Amino acid sequence: MKFGFDIDDTLINLREFAFELYAKKLNKQVDIAEFHKLTDVPIHSLFGLTREEGGQMWNDNRSEIYFTACPPFPNAIEVLQRLVQDGHEVYYITARAPEFCEQTRDWMLAAGFPVDPDKFYCGMSDTEKVHIIRKLELDYYFDDKPAVLETLAELPLLKAYVKDTSYNRQLTIPRITDWHELLAVLQAADTGEVEGQGKVN
Ligand SMILES: [Mg+2]
Repeated sequence: MKFGFDIDDTLINLREFAFELYAKKLNKQVDIAEFHKLTDVPIHSLFGLTREEGGQMWNDNRSEIYFTACPPFPNAIEVLQRLVQDGHEVYYITARAPEFCEQTRDWMLAAGFPVDPDKFYCGMSDTEKVHIIRKLELDYYFDDKPAVLETLAELPLLKAYVKDTSYNRQLTIPRITDWHELLAVLQAADTGEVEGQGKVN
């Protein structure tokens, strides 16, 4: 089967890493509980920054946020490696800006994710992801952003999952909180298929 994954805040804990970096750079400690209460993606408001200042802060620090020590979510690397070992295809679909695409692909590889360069899509807008997902005929797709997931309703055969964060709890589509859950989802789907074949006892 074909599996598609967003990267930031789906496979790697980017916003929380940026939150810690902002705290250091701005010398301003903010309770992590406040971060986990955010109902929108941007984090600048926690540091008293305006939208413009927040945009500037993000842009000025993007290389450090993207390409230093951002941790993958628990079990993400292991589960994706397992998918590839089991013969599945793993695609990455990230809306990072075009100038960061090559370095992002290399960083993902160095981090231990299984990356086939031919299955790495980067540099589109959030709303353009749906076109790639349709063209690839993905079976499964995982993302954290409501703005992306809401565009996928027009693909009835796609199994779309939301990676749980504080700003997507209103979505009612299936949810992954820890990546180890994906293996259980697949096992359940597999069992369902066997039962569906009308096995006679
Ligand atoms: Mg994301």
